[in-house]
Amino acid sequence: MIRYANVDGQLREPVMGLKGICPGCNKSLIAKCGLIKIHHWAHKGRIDCDPWWEHITQWHLDWQNNFAPEWREVIFQDDRSGEIHRADIHTPKGVTIEFQHSPLSLKEFESRNTFYKKLIWVVNAQPFEEYFIFTNATPNPQSPLLANYNFVVDTKGFAKSPRFYIKDEYKWNGQKRLLRSFTLEDHELRSVAEEYGKSKKLYWLFNWNNKRGEWLKSGAPVFLDFGNESLYLIRQRQQEPTSLLYLQVVGKKDFLAKYVNQADN
Ligand SMILES: [Zn+2]
Repeated sequence: MIRYANVDGQLREPVMGLKGICPGCNKSLIAKCGLIKIHHWAHKGRIDCDPWWEHITQWHLDWQNNFAPEWREVIFQDDRSGEIHRADIHTPKGVTIEFQHSPLSLKEFESRNTFYKKLIWVVNAQPFEEYFIFTNATPNPQSPLLANYNFVVDTKGFAKSPRFYIKDEYKWNGQKRLLRSFTLEDHELRSVAEEYGKSKKLYWLFNWNNKRGEWLKSGAPVFLDFGNESLYLIRQRQQEPTSLLYLQVVGKKDFLAKYVNQADN
C-alpha cells in the first residue's frame, strides 16, 4: 500500500476521488478511502510495483509521522532487477528504517537486509506479545565483570534469576555437564550484583514461544515495539556452547532523538 502519490507535481496523501501517479513506476494510482482500511493509494489492477509492499497500519503511520515528510516512503530502484522499493524512512545520512507489522518470509527478509545498506527494523511486537515473556532482568551481558562467565541459557524460561558458570570450568566431554553455576546471590558475583544494583533495568532475558526466527537471526538491528515508551533491541552474546539472546531497553525518545536529528550537519 502506498501513502504518497504524485498529484500535479506534489506528493499527497489520498483523498476520496483524487487521482495520482506512482512516484515509483509512474503508473496511475487510485485513492482508496474506505471505512475499514487505512486510507491509501493503490495501483489499478492491484499489482504493486514494489514486490515488498505491505498493508499500512495506524501503528505504521504513527511511527512515520515522527520523521520529516521528505524522509517517508523514499523510492529506490534495484539496479540489477529493476524492482522498485519504498523505504518507510530514509534519513539524509543513509539510514533506512522499516516499520514491520506483519511476518516476513526469510527470503524477503534477507533481500531487504541486503538491499538497504544501513537498515534498522522496528517490529510491531503487539501481535505476538502473548507468546513473549520477559523472564529476568539481567546485568549487562557485555559487562567486563562477566568476562570470565557465561550465562546458562534457559530455553524454557522457568529460571527465577540469571545463572552463570565459569568459562574455564565448562567441560564439554560430549555431554552438556556443568560443574557449578552461580546466581547474583553468590559471593563470587558480588561485584556484578553491586554494579547491577545501581543500574536501571536495561537488559532482559526473554522466552519467545512461536518465535518469528527471522528477527533473531537478523544482521540488521531489530527493535521490538510492545506499545510502551521503550523499544527492545534484540542482542546476542557470543558464548559456548549456545549464544545468549537478550534485549536491551532503548527509550523511544532516545531512539527518535538519534535518528530524527540526522538532518543536522
Ligand atoms: Zn508503482
